[in-house]
Amino acid sequence: MDRRSLLKFGGLAAVGIAAQACAPRAAAKPVATAPVRPPARPPVRLPHVNAAWDRVIRTTIGLRPHRPSGFVLKTARLDNKTIVHNFGHGGSGMSLSWGTASMATDLAMAHTERTAAVMGSGVAGLTSARELQRHGFAVTIYAATVPPDTTSNMSLAGWTPTSGLVDFKLRTAEWDEQFRTAVRIAYRRLQLLTGPKYGITWITNYAPTDNAEAARGGNVLMPDDISNPRILLQPGEHPFPTKYAIERPEMRIEPSIYLDALMNDFLLWGGKVVIRKFETPRDVTTLTENVIINCTGLGSKALFNDPELMPLKGQLTILAPQSEILYSTSGGAHAPVTPEAGFIHMMPRGDGIVLGGTSIRDDWSLTINEDERKRVVDTHIELFNAMRSPART
Ligand SMILES: Cc1cc2nc3c(=O)[nH]c(=O)nc-3n(C[C@H](O)[C@H](O)[C@H](O)COP(=O)(O)OP(=O)(O)OC[C@H]3O[C@@H](n4cnc5c(N)ncnc54)[C@H](O)[C@@H]3O)c2cc1C
Repeated sequence: MDRRSLLKFGGLAAVGIAAQACAPRAAAKPVATAPVRPPARPPVRLPHVNAAWDRVIRTTIGLRPHRPSGFVLKTARLDNKTIVHNFGHGGSGMSLSWGTASMATDLAMAHTERTAAVMGSGVAGLTSARELQRHGFAVTIYAATVPPDTTSNMSLAGWTPTSGLVDFKLRTAEWDEQFRTAVRIAYRRLQLLTGPKYGITWITNYAPTDNAEAARGGNVLMPDDISNPRILLQPGEHPFPTKYAIERPEMRIEPSIYLDALMNDFLLWGGKVVIRKFETPRDVTTLTENVIINCTGLGSKALFNDPELMPLKGQLTILAPQSEILYSTSGGAHAPVTPEAGFIHMMPRGDGIVLGGTSIRDDWSLTINEDERKRVVDTHIELFNAMRSPART
C-alpha cells in the first residue's frame, strides 16, 4: 500500500468535524471494517498561526436559519402565484445551496412560464437565480439586502453539509431523501467551481484528538457514495499537543469572493436586482412574476409565519491574514473537547484567519458575545502556542 494511502472508512461521509460539533449529536455510522493503518510517515510540518489578541481585526455575527425538522423545499400556492420555498439551511447553506437551488428549479419548471422572481440574495437566492437562468428563465432578484450584507457573508465557510441543519429526532424519510439528493448535487457543483474566480479551494484540515476512535466519525445523514478520506496521524506524525490528529481534505469557500462572483454571473446573464423588503405575503402577490422562489432565510419566519425557524447565533473573530497558513483546524489543544472548552474551528482565508465555533440556539441578538469571543480566541491561542514548531518537529 502506498505510504500516503488514505484511510477509507467504508461508505462514511465527507462531513466536517465542525459539522458534527455544531449539529445535534449524530449517531455514528457503524463501520464494518477496521481502518487500515498506513505505515509511519514523516511528521507533518505546519507553519504557526500567529494567534494573539493584538492580531484581531474584526468580529462578525450571523444568524444561521435553523429549522429543527430541516430545510423547506416545496411548492405552495399564494393566490395565482406559484411559490417554491427554499429556506432554512442552518449552518449548511454555503455547502448545500447548489443542491436545493437545482431541486427548487426542477419544481419551478413544472410551471409553463419562464419569467421568475427570486426573493433573497444570500447564497440560496443567488444559486437559485443562477439555476433558473441556466434553465431558460428571465430572473429578477428581490431582496432587502444584498452581499456583503447577508448572513451568507458572515459564514466561516467550509464544506459542512450537516451542520446545524436538522434535529435528528425530527427527520423523515422524505426529508432525508431530499437532503441526500441536495448534498450529491452540491458537492459535485462546488468541486467544479474551485479556483480564484469563485474563491473555492481545497485545503487540509487537522482535528487534534486523544481518541483514535474519533477518526471513524461519520454522519448517518450522508449518502454512502460520498467519500470521506481521513488519516489518523499517530504520535510523532503531527505537531499538535494531543496524542493523535485526524487529517482530511476540506473544501474552503471565501464568502465575499464567492457571493460577488455569483452576483456577477447573475448580472452577466441578464438578471435584475431590486432592493425591496416584503412585509407580508400580500406584498409578495404584488410581484408581476407568477413563479417565485423564496430564499429569504430567517426572514421566512415572519414573512411566511414559519413557527419552526430560529437562529443559531454564530460569531467569528478574524485575525490578520497569514498567506502561509494553508490548513484549517477543528478542535482545540484539549481533546476530546470538554463541555467547558467547547468546539472551535480555524479557517484561513484571504480576508483573515477566521476563528469560529459559536452556535447559540434561538439567540436573535446581533451584539458581540464577549464570553464567547474570549473562549474562541483564547482556546485557539492555547492550541497554536502548544503546537510544536516546524523547526522542532
Ligand atoms: C458564523 C457562521 C458560520 C457558518 N459556517 C458555515 C459553514 O462553514 N458552511 C456552511 O455551509 N454554512 C455555514 N454557515 C451557514 C450559512 O451561512 C447559511 O446557511 C446561509 O448563509 C443561509 O443562506 P440564505 O441565502 O438562506 O440566507 P441569507 O444569507 O440570510 O439571505 C437571505 C436573503 O433574504 C433577504 N430577505 C430576508 N427577509 C426578507 C424580506 N422580508 N424581504 C425581502 N428580502 C428578505 C435578505 O435580505 C437576504 O438577501 C455559517 C453561518 C454563520 C453565521
